[in-house]
Amino acid sequence: MKKSPIETKEFYNQTIYIKRDDLLSKEFSGNKARKFHYFLENEFPNIKRVISYGSSQSNAMYSLSVLAKLRGWKYDYYVKHISSYLQDNPNGNYKYALKNGMKIHVGRIAPIPTENELFIEEGGRQKEAEYGLKVLAQEILEWKEEQGFDELNVFLPSGTGTTALFLQKAFWQFELGFTGTQVSSLFETKPMSPKCNVYTVPCVGDSEYLKEQFLMLEKDENLHPKILVPSKKRHFGKLYRDSYKIWLELQDKMGIEFDLLYDPQGWITLLENPQIFEKPTLYIHQGGLMGNESMLARYIRKYGEDI
Ligand SMILES: *Cc1c(COP(=O)(O)O)cnc(C)c1O
Repeated sequence: MKKSPIETKEFYNQTIYIKRDDLLSKEFSGNKARKFHYFLENEFPNIKRVISYGSSQSNAMYSLSVLAKLRGWKYDYYVKHISSYLQDNPNGNYKYALKNGMKIHVGRIAPIPTENELFIEEGGRQKEAEYGLKVLAQEILEWKEEQGFDELNVFLPSGTGTTALFLQKAFWQFELGFTGTQVSSLFETKPMSPKCNVYTVPCVGDSEYLKEQFLMLEKDENLHPKILVPSKKRHFGKLYRDSYKIWLELQDKMGIEFDLLYDPQGWITLLENPQIFEKPTLYIHQGGLMGNESMLARYIRKYGEDI
């Protein structure tokens, strides 16, 4: 995987650096490309099929279809439910995943995988994601050196929290020069704060839910990112005027298209916390633009082209 660029932008009088993981490649991009990097680079001689489950419009669902195509694997995806509208009018992630050969199963739970099948948790929340997120951390640290920054704040919105967690953990590991479990014992003697602080905001559940997600992947809370609480409760996948407004502004002022599910909540919350900008601040663009097709159509139906 090639490196993604980092751009300098201004937004609401703040200077902000943007890590353009949306540009990693045309099809396989964003944080799903990072999370599935491990499965792209390693050999799996016995694997013939990948199995996963989740919602019928998820970015992970689509990215797995790309992975399966690249690796020549069959791909079976399990959803609890699919709207008859989507079934009759495939669009967005669903449409493109089907085009890549995904086989969809509705109303059945995913089977236990055989030795020839690779099972991927919903949203790619699993240990192997750590591999690609270490690569991302390394790219960011190299850039930080080049810029001559001593400290850096990194911001990204969370779903399962896998990306934010493994990124913060990798920063600690590179900083302390240790790997795995050895890191945690270092906190017993002295409290520390990392040179690269990861801040995130929950988009799917609340802060408690996100904390639980972190704990499933890493028991040592010293290694967890910092969770910011949005000033307003927004439900995942619902439409909000302020979300649409900031998304249009981001496009207008930066010339960058962000994702419509996570990034509006991300940017609104980041701007609500100006103390973060006291240090150089890097926002991670986590891709997801394929999903915008269906979200944008819904927004335009509700609020029009402009606002
Ligand atoms: C999947 C996704 C997220 C959430 O990532 P997690 O690792 O589950 O927290 C955020 N933004 C975009 C664009 C995504 O596709």
